[in-house]
Amino acid sequence: MSSYDLLFEPVQIGPVTAPNRFYAVPHATGHGWNQPSGAIALRGMKAQGGWGTVAVQITEISPNTDMANHPMERIWDDSDIPRHAAQVEAIKKHDSLAAIELGHGGMRARNLTSGSPVIGPTALPVLRPEVPVQAMEMTLADIRAFRDDHRAAARRAVEAGYDIIYVYAAHDISLLSNFLSINNNQRSDRYGGSFENRVRLLREVIEDTLEVAAGERAVALRFSVAEPGKQNGLRHDGEGRDVVEALAELPDLWDVNLSGWPHDSQTARFADEGYQLPYTDFVKSLTTKPVVGVGRFTSPDMMVSLVKKGRLDLIGAARPSIADPFLPEKIRNDRIDEIRECIGCNICVSMDSYGLPLRCTQNPTISEEWRRGWHPETVPQSDVERSHLIVGAGPAGLECAVTLLKAGHRVTIAEAGEQAGGRALKESRLPGLSSWLRVRDYRLYQISQAAKAELFVSSELTLADALEFGADTITFATGAKWRDDGVGSTSALAIDTGTLPLLTPDDILNDLPELALFGSDKPASIVVYDDDHFYIASAIAERLAMNGHRVRYVTPLPTIATWTDFTLDMPRIIARLNELGVELWPNMKLTGEKIFTDQLKGDQKNLDMDTLVFVGARVPNCVDGAFSSPAEGQPGDAQIYRTGDCLVPGTIQAAVLSGHQVARDILSGRSTLRDQRRDQITFSLA
Ligand code: ADP
Ligand code: SF4
Repeated sequence: MSSYDLLFEPVQIGPVTAPNRFYAVPHATGHGWNQPSGAIALRGMKAQGGWGTVAVQITEISPNTDMANHPMERIWDDSDIPRHAAQVEAIKKHDSLAAIELGHGGMRARNLTSGSPVIGPTALPVLRPEVPVQAMEMTLADIRAFRDDHRAAARRAVEAGYDIIYVYAAHDISLLSNFLSINNNQRSDRYGGSFENRVRLLREVIEDTLEVAAGERAVALRFSVAEPGKQNGLRHDGEGRDVVEALAELPDLWDVNLSGWPHDSQTARFADEGYQLPYTDFVKSLTTKPVVGVGRFTSPDMMVSLVKKGRLDLIGAARPSIADPFLPEKIRNDRIDEIRECIGCNICVSMDSYGLPLRCTQNPTISEEWRRGWHPETVPQSDVERSHLIVGAGPAGLECAVTLLKAGHRVTIAEAGEQAGGRALKESRLPGLSSWLRVRDYRLYQISQAAKAELFVSSELTLADALEFGADTITFATGAKWRDDGVGSTSALAIDTGTLPLLTPDDILNDLPELALFGSDKPASIVVYDDDHFYIASAIAERLAMNGHRVRYVTPLPTIATWTDFTLDMPRIIARLNELGVELWPNMKLTGEKIFTDQLKGDQKNLDMDTLVFVGARVPNCVDGAFSSPAEGQPGDAQIYRTGDCLVPGTIQAAVLSGHQVARDILSGRSTLRDQRRDQITFSLA
């Protein structure tokens, strides 16, 4: 008897039964219809890891909802059925339920490859302000055709074997949401105007789908109950609630969340676990049907409490199931400390923006289940035990160590600092980034449980020390240093900043524990210059402003923390900096001592300041001699490798992937980079 037994109770969803309460909700994988093998293996892995229900991402029902370049799933015609049947089989093999999210993107589709006009309730520009395309107003015949397409797609989903068929009205990426919206639906017929009219199409499509499901498959409604910050958006205490009341008993399952995606997938920097509950937990009070909700849930105690308190019936997860596909199995087997908790960084989300297969900071094996045959929990066992020395216990070194240990090898890690964790440890001290520490903690726990592992802190090694140790392999994972010479993304050449006092993120991060340099007793005028464009500069600006300094955030690019657009963070970062009184200076390029050149006008401005914090490029920390040419990597007998930021500075996700990759290379004795399968697109030349 475990306190988590409640999570393993079956849940009736209409005519089907979920074996437990762990529900992997639909999310983009980047492996769309044209890379099916990766998608199938990824979802099969979640089922193997114990998710009682595994859902497939938005599946376009017809050519007039072509979402390319976002690689969604498709079920346009019968030729798509075998691919879906294979997906269902991979999920059901592990006794999980398979769900499919049928969707029509409406005014968010672009139809760039199908060439079909974008359709919506009213003739208006599409819901992507940057795209110069308009939607065509649907006639009543078009509405009938859409319902026919949805019914046909549902029939194919049944034929493919799905247990749960979704109707999708969420995230503002849905024709059904367009019809609900008073912004987008300005019709005066029976599908527009009053609430009853605007909800009509949603009701009809649920009824159509129930008819096709014929009491043998369940029908779920994915619905965003609130659209915070949107003018005339749905509110959970307004029309969002009215929709739930009006349709309460119609679907077999309510899958509820927030819209748009930046509200649904909030990062840990700005939102804690369970952040959606204040909006979504009213739903259970209005329906007897089961309810699934999300909120980056990784804590089993919280999951139990949500069920006990009647706030949710099923624990929904996208990101936690990416970071740890085996999360349910670990809870079932009372291996709570082994959960690889999502850190809420949204690197996974960024990959969807690129239209590419998922990457994850915590789980380097995601998307590689089929492509490279990687498993998130196991590594093929080696016949011969070898000993490995890893120099540096940052994300790359720790991941490399864990992977080698799993293969049965002996591993020693030497870390120069007083604690393991590298940049994850340092950056976790910045506001909102404490969850970065999970990258270290998951791996340290694994290492602490391994009999053949030793970790030495306060142990800075030279090449001679490392060679003397006598391991079979030495892997340098010694990280990188921030540059102080003006070189950054927009400047390949150094910039002469004269006598200006200049600090790098290393100076700030090393000082943070004591706050000696930057305590509020010494308010200063500080310019944080961002030529890196991810999160670090903005987090440093935030921290310095919190400490009472006058802070200006200056960047040569037109937007603030530009790359955080990919992680959906940018608007919140801007709001936070504004709240703290940080002045924002986009389009200003550092060109000399206190001199900045306006990138639009070309004129120069002198910004007076006490200190410049320069956030630009980084240089690898190479241990002297370890990689001197010409015989790179081969002094002495040990094989020498390098990984992570000391190979090439990048994100923490890239360092973890690199650490995993180098361990695979060490284990196989060759570069495994080329061991990647590709989906074969078959074609014949006419
Ligand atoms: P990555 O992201 O690639 O893992 P980090 O900078 O996070 O890189 O981690 C590198 C780690 O290596 C840091 O904790 C640093 O203290 C450690 N390190 C750097 N040089 C040495 C050295 N010569 N001996 C031992 N540890 C080192
Ligand atoms: Fe979580 Fe980051 Fe992994 Fe996404 S990339 S699942 S947010 S740890």
